[in-house]
Amino acid sequence: MDCSVEVAAGAGVLVTWDDGRRRVQCPVCQEVAFRHERWDENDQFGVGSWFPSESPAGCGATISVRILTLNRPCWKCGEVSTCVVGLRPFRPALTDPGPRSVDGISLVWVRELLEQAGVDWLASSIKPRWSATMRQRYLSNGCQHCDALQGDFPLEGEVSELVRESGVEALDTVLVADVPALVWQRTVHGERGEGSGLLA
Ligand SMILES: [Zn+2]
Ligand SMILES: [Zn+2]
Repeated sequence: MDCSVEVAAGAGVLVTWDDGRRRVQCPVCQEVAFRHERWDENDQFGVGSWFPSESPAGCGATISVRILTLNRPCWKCGEVSTCVVGLRPFRPALTDPGPRSVDGISLVWVRELLEQAGVDWLASSIKPRWSATMRQRYLSNGCQHCDALQGDFPLEGEVSELVRESGVEALDTVLVADVPALVWQRTVHGERGEGSGLLA
């Protein structure tokens, strides 16, 4: 199962992938895949939601997720700064392909979870900042010393290389938190079923 969400006995759906291998899909992923197919064929401009509003029966309501960070020198002040760079289920399924990158949407709930867990030093460094490269403000990692934006693009390149070479354990786990399964599946599938970035 790619999303690693827990599925009750008998609730999963066995599907054959393009590579001929068979895998189990949870009911939500099945639903998302179905809507994605339908959208491709008939509804190119559809704006309807891809996700059911609650977890279907047989699908775990929450999933335990590791929030992964990387310590690296800030480009501006040179002090070591901590950035939130990845997400990984605490107990990933064998077919889960690897850690996910953190986009602007997941950073919103990650910041909230960090706050709830009292990791304020990190939560407070995540805020909207102006990016000259992107020519817009976005919710971003920032230096804990000088507040400079730590850009997504260089960060993701660096992290992907690390994960490719040394695996997910090259990153630190700052927190393990329960995340609603639907929120997690949104991270896995993206906003429109297109899938999110994998670090590797
Ligand atoms: Zn799933
Ligand atoms: Zn700095």
